[in-house]
Amino acid sequence: MAIDYEFRLNQFISNTENKNVDLIVVTDPINIYYFTGFYADPHDRYMSLVIDSAKESYLFVPALDRDAAVEKAKVDYIIPISDEEDPFDIVGQHLEASVHTIGVEMNVMTVAHQNGLKVIYEDAEFLDIEKEINTLRIHKSKEEVEGMKKAVNIIEKVLEDGLKTIKEGMTEADLVAEFEYLMKKYGSAGPSFSTMVLSGAKAALPHGKPDNTKLENGDFLLIDFGVITYDRYCSDITRTFIIGEADDKQKEIYNIVKRSTQAGVDAVKAGVPLKEFDIAARNVIQESGYGEYFNNRVGHGLGIEVHEAPSIHHLNEDIAQKGMVFTIEPGIYIPGYGGVRIEEEVYINEEGKCEVLTSFPRELKEITL
Ligand code: MN
Ligand code: MN
Repeated sequence: MAIDYEFRLNQFISNTENKNVDLIVVTDPINIYYFTGFYADPHDRYMSLVIDSAKESYLFVPALDRDAAVEKAKVDYIIPISDEEDPFDIVGQHLEASVHTIGVEMNVMTVAHQNGLKVIYEDAEFLDIEKEINTLRIHKSKEEVEGMKKAVNIIEKVLEDGLKTIKEGMTEADLVAEFEYLMKKYGSAGPSFSTMVLSGAKAALPHGKPDNTKLENGDFLLIDFGVITYDRYCSDITRTFIIGEADDKQKEIYNIVKRSTQAGVDAVKAGVPLKEFDIAARNVIQESGYGEYFNNRVGHGLGIEVHEAPSIHHLNEDIAQKGMVFTIEPGIYIPGYGGVRIEEEVYINEEGKCEVLTSFPRELKEITL
């Protein structure tokens, strides 16, 4: 099942027609990958995908990536730029001179890149075209969902087998190492973001960092991680465990979060505002008296990036659409005590119904050291 990148690029070109831009300059390597099938991290070098007013496409790449770009990208022109060249000289030489409006990804383009374009097109005005890109990326095709399922299957196998390696004296960092070894062993390209293993009170930190803290009986053990496949599909799942025997308060908090995740998942369908999924999950936590300990959005889209549109928060009025894939990940985080998060990935299928892509059991699991 191959992705038709040319079709995507043409869709994008026709969707941006009414924006009246003379030039579109895409600089996010992930967006370039989305439209061409060619991925490279240019680091400090220049790379862009440009569409001119004649709808011709140009891919400017670092010279060392030229061959890979020629192999993958179906664009009209591939233009290599060597390290000694000023990329904006090269861009200026290849494109038309009369440009008044340039469509760019405002969240991505650097000031340096913008200044480079201003040297070529002194009076040019910049317009944001991220919405037009996200409108396409938000809708996952069958092929994409298959890729994402593969990423989920790998991470769930990593979780199942990685848990078996837990033993007395192990640190958070040791467990991260076990997981990341298995991620590669089971066929992924690696973690889709920094693997999070947080124990004890650290489980209350939604963005905590694993370190040499030893896993101890009575601890929460929060594991939030995912893989990226060689096709760049990401997974993202969280489960929280108890090391040793769970006490009553741990069980209470766990069960509230479990009900909250279920309520969020149950609310998911096409045709209603995205905020409803956040509110459904949030209500369970609020009604249980823990509302103050859940103060972030319930989820985010994912695909070829682990965080992408849409954002699932309680003010988002955008309507849920077929083809969306996003997370539902409520949590209760009590500073100095610990926390619980249970994160699932959901897909709104072509019938407009919710499919849960993740399948790891949500029942409270106690882990013996
Ligand atoms: Mn996560
Ligand atoms: Mn997430």
